[in-house]
Amino acid sequence: MIIVMKSGAVKKDKEEVLQRVRELGYQPHVIHGSTRDVIGAVGDERGKAVLQSIESMHGVESVVPILQPYKLASKEVKRETSIIPITDTLSIGGKEMVVMAGPCSVETEEQIIASAMAVKEAGAQVLRGGAFKPRTSPYSFQGLEEEGLKLLAKARELTGLPVVTEVVNPETADLVAEYADILQIGARNAQNFALLKKVGQLTKPVLLKRGMSMTIQEFLMSAEYILSEGNQKVILCERGIRTFETATRNTLDLSAIPVLKEKTHLPVIADPSHGTGHYQYVAPMAFAAVAAGADGLIVEVHPDPEHASSDGPQSLKPKKFAGMMTRLKRFAEASDRLL
Ligand code: PEP
Ligand code: MN
Repeated sequence: MIIVMKSGAVKKDKEEVLQRVRELGYQPHVIHGSTRDVIGAVGDERGKAVLQSIESMHGVESVVPILQPYKLASKEVKRETSIIPITDTLSIGGKEMVVMAGPCSVETEEQIIASAMAVKEAGAQVLRGGAFKPRTSPYSFQGLEEEGLKLLAKARELTGLPVVTEVVNPETADLVAEYADILQIGARNAQNFALLKKVGQLTKPVLLKRGMSMTIQEFLMSAEYILSEGNQKVILCERGIRTFETATRNTLDLSAIPVLKEKTHLPVIADPSHGTGHYQYVAPMAFAAVAAGADGLIVEVHPDPEHASSDGPQSLKPKKFAGMMTRLKRFAEASDRLL
């Protein structure tokens, strides 16, 4: 149920409503809108009619059911896109698009620092780099783990870029959160519910990637796991789904962007690197994602892709990335966005 507060409701009204929701056995979540607050009451769907009595409380305008199975992620609780703060000066979901870029994996100090300087120079606002890598094969490079996190922190110190890096299990989530500015949940873990709950209990923003065989509804239900634990800072990422097509590594489902924009208030970014698997296709799909309404991009960039430990074939060299960024500005402008 959504409890819509009157625009003139005072703090006491809201606190009484929160308490009543808890007494009725539901979990309240306050969602701040531009003109008024709404309170999402989530819990057992079967007995939700009892919440209707809240309508007579002071400061309450209406109590309405949320029709979608995903509640807190739904546009029904909030019409405007959520603006997720990343640092004091950077947020995602507003007019300014955010580009996250860097190598698939952190490999060496030289590699991550060269990557960070290059992507910053080209205009990226966030550095990406995996320290814990969820690989399809147990024989592939698994990442530098904590050493990789330390190198990311060093690159942040040198460039000022916040970092996004992947969390692969609940056990190491606290460790990753000590270093990362954004916690990435990868496609292979997008329905790892224990992990989703764990990052839902942390305070860092979460970049949730779409699982490679997930419907949009399932994707939003995964976001709901994070939101329902209390972490409202969720960014969605379309990174391609598995289809019969083999010319590209995945099929970047760009139609998911306008669909998500219609269904959720969470910001949506696109990953044209994993979405295509080939560096040649990254820039065109990045431009298309902006046209489709993406709030940002995550792009793999490596100073020496031929020798990368993972995902070299889809990684852009710094010069190509800079060229893409220059052209991207024009697409952003045409989409009424800033970059
Ligand atoms: C990655 O970002 O390097 C990655 C493993 O992505 P995905 O989870 O989308 O495959
Ligand atoms: Mn990768």
